[in-house]
Amino acid sequence: MLDNELNKETARCLGCRAKPCQKACPLGVSPTDFIKAAKENDFKSAAAEITFKNPLPQTCGLVCPDRFCQKVCIRAKMDQAIAIPCLQAEIIKRGGYQPLALPQNNGKRAAIIGGGPAGIGACYQFLLSGWSVDIYETQNKLGGAARLIPEYRLAHQVLDAEIKRIVENERVNVFLGTRVEDFVALKAQYDGVVLALGEPMSRKLGIIGEEYCVPFIEYLSNPTKFKGMKICVTGGGEVALDCAITAKKCGADTVEMFVRRRQSDMRIMARDQVELTKTGVQVRELSSVIKIKQDGAKFDLNVISNRINDEGKAEACIGTEQELAGYDLVIQALGAYYPEDKIPENFVIAGDMTGVCGTVVQALASGKAAARRVIEENA
Ligand SMILES: Cc1cc2nc3c(=O)[nH]c(=O)nc-3n(C[C@H](O)[C@H](O)[C@H](O)COP(=O)(O)OP(=O)(O)OC[C@H]3O[C@@H](n4cnc5c(N)ncnc54)[C@H](O)[C@@H]3O)c2cc1C
Ligand code: SF4
Repeated sequence: MLDNELNKETARCLGCRAKPCQKACPLGVSPTDFIKAAKENDFKSAAAEITFKNPLPQTCGLVCPDRFCQKVCIRAKMDQAIAIPCLQAEIIKRGGYQPLALPQNNGKRAAIIGGGPAGIGACYQFLLSGWSVDIYETQNKLGGAARLIPEYRLAHQVLDAEIKRIVENERVNVFLGTRVEDFVALKAQYDGVVLALGEPMSRKLGIIGEEYCVPFIEYLSNPTKFKGMKICVTGGGEVALDCAITAKKCGADTVEMFVRRRQSDMRIMARDQVELTKTGVQVRELSSVIKIKQDGAKFDLNVISNRINDEGKAEACIGTEQELAGYDLVIQALGAYYPEDKIPENFVIAGDMTGVCGTVVQALASGKAAARRVIEENA
């Protein structure tokens, strides 16, 4: 962001005394205050306001959706909401990170299972409260699902550097490539445990031929493998969009998104609608894939058209079935979940696995809250 762009944007902020933008931030970061400091060119104080509450501040600045601080921004009533997340990311770039100021070690030890944003949030809170932390993570890197956010939206070096700032610390041990199976046995070795396991299960279409689909987690983990192909993406949310745009950026020939409702109903941000059009992804709105057939190395799809009925629901229009041939890959991108009946009892849980998060900032806040709960139970 250039100086004049930054100055123009910060000048638009009204400095609202009621701080609605702070109230809407799951982490309680105050845009009112950090923008005020930035207006005075005091980027260090502005960054300190953010980094004290948010352990992944630039990451959130890059990926936070517009449904928190921006949704309630008073400026939106006059013209347009302040670009708060962009300003946050820019302020961190200019003001830098404060070194972690940790209190004396109190001898308490926590285990965090899962090294995604919720695990990082919990780790940060434990450290601020004088605890030592062991993080167990199945993958060979920390970051969890945030690592699936494509590079064009979140440079992974930003995520890595911010995680490193929290965990590269003598009070934190990280066990990568370590899947914890027995949570109860682990609990016996610590003063407290937080489970932050994310959402490992992809939502299913429930159709014949579903086994031919590649789940979005697998696709986004290695998208370049599918260069030059004709790709079908099922789903109309942010995850489906990430798959479709990534496929285009990685050199797919044709990318078609099959969206059950209208394109205007897609649960994506306005800026993503623009990106979608720019990249040449074709959106087949009001259409559902109802069957997938293998034809040699290719896949044929049976597709049906939908209409929005009087109750506002998508309803299949019988008799509109058609067959579309020649897809190299079908990506299942309907989202993910943690099976409710598999949630271990008597554990403090955090992040997406609670079923009420879905964004990095919420997972961080949930992780911090979970750690506070464990700390209170130990007080
Ligand atoms: C494609 C995609 C795009 C997204 N885009 C955005 C966006 O633009 N903005 C936004 O805010 N959010 C976005 N999100 C959502 C965001 O990434 C998640 O909400 C967030 O990562 C959830 O954090 P979490 O820590 O709860 O779970 P996760 O990030 O899923 O982390 C859970 C971790 O636990 C580990 N784990 C699980 N079981 C075990 C075990 N038994 N032992 C050890 N480790 C285990 C997993 O390997 C994983 O690393 C996106 C997600 C995806 C998939
Ligand atoms: S609500 Fe908008 S205009 Fe008001 S202080 Fe927050 S960012 Fe500034």
